[in-house]
Amino acid sequence: MYLHIHQAGSPVLATAARALGVEEIRSEQTQQLIAMMRETMRNAPGVGLAAPQVGADLQLAVIEDREEFIRALPPGEPELRERVPVPFHVIINPTLEPIGDERASFFEGCLSLDSFVAIVPRYRAVRVHYLDSTGKENVTEATGWYARILQHEIDHLRGIQYTERMYPRSLMTSTNYARFWKAKSVDIVLRDLAEPTHQ
Ligand code: ZN
Repeated sequence: MYLHIHQAGSPVLATAARALGVEEIRSEQTQQLIAMMRETMRNAPGVGLAAPQVGADLQLAVIEDREEFIRALPPGEPELRERVPVPFHVIINPTLEPIGDERASFFEGCLSLDSFVAIVPRYRAVRVHYLDSTGKENVTEATGWYARILQHEIDHLRGIQYTERMYPRSLMTSTNYARFWKAKSVDIVLRDLAEPTHQ
């Protein structure tokens, strides 16, 4: 059974989620939620899903970036995006800090903004402290696409969607992205979509 994925405008996406206790993490209910979120993410398909997106007011997200997604990218894209496979894992009660202040800008999408993408600047590298699915403390240092996924999912736990981070003029349908912009570098896209100057 797949969970319903809330779309933009659903109040749960605009609310800061609450932290979980260790006992609660180990409960049957939370373990079942994790399993269902994993299946829902894989079915979508997506590389991350945060509990608020399925209507649960909890600081919990599932992440997985699969080899098959990366193989489907055009040549050169995985390197450009620094995208490598990330095994399935769960982050709970995360805190995030940037490593350095270098940013990277790429198109990204969200399962809660179905059929849209936009260019979003994100920190290139981040450090995240979190509890895993057994309640154990963990820390991960991530670069590139994995760092982007972490920032995107942890934003969801704070009630933030990518529309608050994007270059507003870069918001577009996935269809138009594929039709007009897919082969162009982000710099060119931002230049071509810049605000027209009126004489
Ligand atoms: Zn999202």
